[in-house]
Amino acid sequence: MRAWVVHESGPVATGPLRLVERPAGEPGYGELLIRVLTCGVCRTDLHLAEGDLAPRAPDITPGHEVVGEVAAAGPGAVRFGAGDRVGVAWLAGTDGSCRYCRRGAENLCPRSVFTGWDIHGGYAEYVVAADAYVHAVPAGFSDAEAAPLLCAGIIGYRALLRAELPPGGTLGIWGFGGSAHLTAQIAIAQGAAVHVFTRAAAARELALELGAQSAQDSFDPTPEPLDAAIMFAPAGELVPAALSALDRGGTLAIAGIHLSDIPALNYAAQLFQERTLRSVTANTRGDAEEFLRLAQRLRLRVTVTPYRLEQADQALADLAADRVAGAAVLSV
Ligand SMILES: [Zn+2]
Ligand SMILES: [Zn+2]
Repeated sequence: MRAWVVHESGPVATGPLRLVERPAGEPGYGELLIRVLTCGVCRTDLHLAEGDLAPRAPDITPGHEVVGEVAAAGPGAVRFGAGDRVGVAWLAGTDGSCRYCRRGAENLCPRSVFTGWDIHGGYAEYVVAADAYVHAVPAGFSDAEAAPLLCAGIIGYRALLRAELPPGGTLGIWGFGGSAHLTAQIAIAQGAAVHVFTRAAAARELALELGAQSAQDSFDPTPEPLDAAIMFAPAGELVPAALSALDRGGTLAIAGIHLSDIPALNYAAQLFQERTLRSVTANTRGDAEEFLRLAQRLRLRVTVTPYRLEQADQALADLAADRVAGAAVLSV
């Protein structure tokens, strides 16, 4: 089968991805062999390709927003069978026995493995995934629309939980790509006033179209104090601005797996008055199930920029240059 691999990480302009031929693999105990229909392009793939995220295996195939059809089920796979439409997400496995797993925080498991980082992901014609970590794809979404739900949607949802947005509160969102455009819709459906801060003019337009109260440039002042904020942009230099925009007792959650360095903070202007700064690390399967149900119930509108599998490197370059409206998705 055809598969992209990260051969030598580096700036996306140097072509870190390579399209190769390799065996499709076989499902082992408790695993599924899945024929990939679509795979979303996440900023984490870009971090991996560019080397911001250290590779965990040589020539790994990226991609962790996979919508596919089960081609074969290995022994011990009990949840899904041949022909089922399934979604493969970022969290690919945990030990299930450490103190984090036992207290319901499997997102913090030190022995967790991730799709498209530790094991091959969906920039390929087939992928093998653990039956226990695969999700049913909600009805009412096309294969392309469903793909961004699987990381952008799930992680954005966990970030929203971590931001502790009070009912009817104000939410600031920095960066407005695949994840933010889904998260904003959930917050708006919950009655929040959402203010978007991004340098990309097309993204500001999309934000207003989806019901955001305001959309401005990244460093513009907030129209009103924020009860909660989420940083989707991987830019640490925006953190002081976002903290300054928080109201007393407000929380800023950093959604990404990678962030450039945060400049020195001023305690009085950016943290005092019980403002909170927190990170978001992966997600639990519970987060995923909850979000996917919510996506279906709220009929989230998924904005997709389509690419063919052969164009994966182009999709990453466009993502790096802020040229993607909503979420980029590869059709296989
Ligand atoms: Zn992702
Ligand atoms: Zn664990």
